[in-house]
Amino acid sequence: MDTTLGERVALVNEGIADAARAAGRNIDDITTIVVTKFHPAQLVRDLYDLGVRNIGENRHQEAEAKAAELAPLDLTWHFIGQLQSNKARAVRKYAQVLHSVDRPSLVNALANAAMTPEGLPENNAVEVLDCFVQLNLTQDPGRGGVQPADVVELAELVAAQPSLNLLGVMAVAPLDEEPRVAFARVKAASERVQTVIPQANFISAGMSHDYAAAIAEGATHLRIGSAITGNRPVAG
Ligand SMILES: *Cc1c(COP(=O)(O)O)cnc(C)c1O
Repeated sequence: MDTTLGERVALVNEGIADAARAAGRNIDDITTIVVTKFHPAQLVRDLYDLGVRNIGENRHQEAEAKAAELAPLDLTWHFIGQLQSNKARAVRKYAQVLHSVDRPSLVNALANAAMTPEGLPENNAVEVLDCFVQLNLTQDPGRGGVQPADVVELAELVAAQPSLNLLGVMAVAPLDEEPRVAFARVKAASERVQTVIPQANFISAGMSHDYAAAIAEGATHLRIGSAITGNRPVAG
């Protein structure tokens, strides 16, 4: 790319502001998370210097290492990838928001990870983890997430855990569907969740190529990677 990081951050911020205006929405209701997977910690530092405070990662080991290296910076770490239950405790130590709660066994693992073996809160003070339940908008179970028919049930499991705070629903638009149509289905799922958990009114949706459609359908948390970071380095 022949643009600088700062130019790309500014361009995406403008695009988000335009889409919010077109949708009659307040820009303050939209959080932009910059997805830095496969990029070095230095890129996160550069983003921090440009004012970015919300960082997204989708691989546990990589996220854990970067969060440790950058611990002095006041960043909010969002874990957005598929998560193995045996990583629940480790993720709770560095991530403030988990976007990919996709099954009851993970809810249990996350809840247990906040407790000692005696069933007491870790360190006497459980830090509450903000969570989204992930919707699968395809028929492919490998894509992660629950089918829309099952989302309310999973949301209720999260909401029942004192150490978890349900923010709302998360989804990735399928490649073979018009994003706006897919995001309308996410909005409908969000509304169903809110009938039982009214405060879970946030929607994590929208990536580099479809964030405007997501904003039009009520997204509150955008996960933007390549439009800001440039092309991802090839995974090593
Ligand atoms: C990589 C990733 C993104 C960002 O994708 P871009 O197309 O690079 O913006 C968003 N959400 C998830 C779950 C991702 O894995």
